[in-house]
Amino acid sequence: MTINLLGLGPRQLEAYCTALGERPFRARQLMRWMHQAGIDDFGAMTDMSKALRERLASQTTIGAPAVLSDATAADGTRKWLLDVGTGNAVETVFIPEGDPEWKAGTGTPAGDDADHAPRRYRGTLCISSQAGCALECSFCATGRQGFNRNLEAAEIIGQLWWANKSLGRGVLAARPITNVVMMGMGEPLANFDNVVTALELMLDDCAYGLSRRRVTVSTAGMVPAIDRLREACPVALAVSLHAPNDALRDQLVPLNRKYPIRELLAACTRYVEKAPREFIMFEYVMLAGVNDGAAHARELTHLVRDVPCKINLIPFNGYPGTVYSRSPERAVARFSEILFEQGYTVTVRKTRGAGIDAACGQLAGRVQDKTRRAERTAAGREGTEQTLEAAR
Ligand code: SAH
Repeated sequence: MTINLLGLGPRQLEAYCTALGERPFRARQLMRWMHQAGIDDFGAMTDMSKALRERLASQTTIGAPAVLSDATAADGTRKWLLDVGTGNAVETVFIPEGDPEWKAGTGTPAGDDADHAPRRYRGTLCISSQAGCALECSFCATGRQGFNRNLEAAEIIGQLWWANKSLGRGVLAARPITNVVMMGMGEPLANFDNVVTALELMLDDCAYGLSRRRVTVSTAGMVPAIDRLREACPVALAVSLHAPNDALRDQLVPLNRKYPIRELLAACTRYVEKAPREFIMFEYVMLAGVNDGAAHARELTHLVRDVPCKINLIPFNGYPGTVYSRSPERAVARFSEILFEQGYTVTVRKTRGAGIDAACGQLAGRVQDKTRRAERTAAGREGTEQTLEAAR
């Protein structure tokens, strides 16, 4: 099989160059061409000898997934559907906020402050890590589709490569993507090695040069992998908590039966010691009548008391066939007030990408399910409804 250089991390690329008898700086040169200039043609790499370029062209490729569709919503959110072969496709979403012309010291600073539209520019790319997802969280559209496979490192970084290239024109030309969140399809920590390779490229100054604080991995709570990430590549961490106790979390995030809340929170505390940001971001999807009551909020304030954290409430985004619905605004306001009164920093995630199904939990791509999840849910829709009743 031909090696795809796009998916080699900084150290792997260096080892490859050394094996070819080249000096290690070739790896940095190659990374700049591929990741910064967006070049996938060795012929264009004019600072390398013709012999080397020909050798690379005969032994390797530079390949990102092909684009199947490209849609932009009225609010500027853009979504690409990328072909990852054998009938599978994954989604990548770009979310611009604020004013691209904003200069430090002018205008209102950015923030999730509801009274002021953020002005400071931020461009977030939401990346997928798997074709489908094996975790089956009961409220998530990706989970419903079942699971096919882990994405290769080249398919993960290829999403950033592609977005960077296609956004690299117009007013945002300087730096369209300032932040990356691993919050697309899949559980990133279940595809650990490939995700870490992609993270290393995101952080490397010869590739995308993002700061660790601006790269976020979101996990449903794979405890051993949280510990491994802390050692291998500590970036900002978001944890999908979604419930204030094990009984409810078992229903919403079945992975909780394997790694219950107490173990998860202990891993979060350990992570913070090495994290680039001094807190964990807890995500909490607001499901009407399920986890959004005042009692849930109070329980949550006690639960996470000892973990340095911020809490991000996510209004539920619906999709055909789901049994859940979005919490009313007043329930979200009440919930966040209770947390705020207890001293927590709470934000409510803005719903972006309306009209192109690009919001959290709506990413579905195309998955050739290997787990027969769809069959099981078609037969078991009643089961899901029972789960919902039990969760209420
Ligand atoms: N598997 C990872 C990352 C993917 S999802 C994780 O679980 O963290 C990113 C976030 O969107 C998670 O917090 C997820 O629980 C949330 N989410 C999933 N479905 C949703 C929906 N329908 N509406 C709102 N948020 C959803």
